[in-house]
Amino acid sequence: TSARVVVIGGGYGGATVARFLRAADPRLEVTLIEPRRDYYSCAFSNAVIGGLKPYSILRFGYDGVEAAGVRLVFEKAMRVDPAAKTVRTDGGIVFAYDRLIMAPGIEFIWNAIAGYDEAAAEIMPHAWKAGPQTLLLRKQIEEMPDDGVVAIAPPTNPFRCPPGPYERASLIAHYLKAHKPRAKVIILDSKESFSKDLLFRRAWKDLYGDRIEWHGIFDYGPVIAVKPKEMVLVTEAREFRVDVANIIPPQQAPAIARDAGLADATGWCPINPVTFESRLQPGIHVLGDASIAGAMPKSAFSANAQGKVCAMQVARLLSGEAPIPTKLDNVCYSLVAPDYGISVAGVYRQGEDAIEAVEDAGGVSPIHASEKFRRSEAGYAGDWFETITRQVFG
Ligand code: FAD
Repeated sequence: TSARVVVIGGGYGGATVARFLRAADPRLEVTLIEPRRDYYSCAFSNAVIGGLKPYSILRFGYDGVEAAGVRLVFEKAMRVDPAAKTVRTDGGIVFAYDRLIMAPGIEFIWNAIAGYDEAAAEIMPHAWKAGPQTLLLRKQIEEMPDDGVVAIAPPTNPFRCPPGPYERASLIAHYLKAHKPRAKVIILDSKESFSKDLLFRRAWKDLYGDRIEWHGIFDYGPVIAVKPKEMVLVTEAREFRVDVANIIPPQQAPAIARDAGLADATGWCPINPVTFESRLQPGIHVLGDASIAGAMPKSAFSANAQGKVCAMQVARLLSGEAPIPTKLDNVCYSLVAPDYGISVAGVYRQGEDAIEAVEDAGGVSPIHASEKFRRSEAGYAGDWFETITRQVFG
């Protein structure tokens, strides 16, 4: 059919679903609304922060998406009217849709940590959306004193990229080991455990000695406030004065999704596990970080997998066919050092109520493995980044 599908957000989820809709049915009119002409990937941004890779590897344009027959509109979606089935942009254009797909990523909950607002993020970067924030954190690490302290404050679950803060700590420590051997990284966590923690902590001990100090919630409590002018982090138990502070604030679905009535009390968007159609607003699908995708983590790999499945299901719905439940997968690679990679993999089924983990499928890297094994996994991480970005943007 020549139905109209509008996609909001041209990241890993949105660009994938737009392309795969066109592949599923070339008669579909697919419009992708995205405010920026360049996408900066969060995946691999920790390698830039650690000085392993140049910033330029993170940048992608939309020529490939356009060449796939997707109409690109470089504007910000401002308002969705679910009853009228329209989207209005900041340029005042109104798009009518038969189906709307939202993949707008995340928004930070400012001041959830007292004092941590947009102005504070210019002093204490989050670097949890790639772009200038990535460069700011990199610059601060390069310029800090030789015996300085970098603090990382990760949020509670769920959040974008569960292993991300710990990969970041690793690659910062890798840089410090070579360039500022007296400096260290402290992680003031809001959790008592984290993704791949046994693997990370073992690798830290082997590679970085006591250069990385992890404090779970039972040590000092979560970071509850910041004082950017004094470079102070306040936990329940005490204050920490540091040289670089990377605050990763709690997150929620962006305003464009919340204002359209797509989010529940958790701040994220509940969906039908087979079609990704909103449980709250018929005709609107949500995927990627903004959605509640059951057992799947908020990752680029997941957003891409969801984009492909959602495209298939929406194409079927639009041609009057029943959706078919299928399986999805996810692998999150983390670099602990340039030649030391670890991973966690999962396989998921589209159940009746939720996307569920398939038992006894997937798993994590072995806790004991040869150097060669870790080097291979680091190689797979790089290969994955090349493959996925070519598929989504190339
Ligand atoms: P995004 O990729 O953020 O895309 C959302 C898009 O929507 C953006 O382009 C934005 O401009 C646009 N948008 C927002 N609001 C509007 C609006 N109103 N109108 C129009 N457009 C709008 N994942 C992995 O799989 N592997 C990794 O190794 C990995 N490493 C990571 C490292 C770090 C440090 C971080 C922070 C994340 C990492 N991730 C990784 C996670 C990954 O980046 C996200 O899960 C992924 O980007 C989610 O895709 P998305 O499409 O939901 O959102």
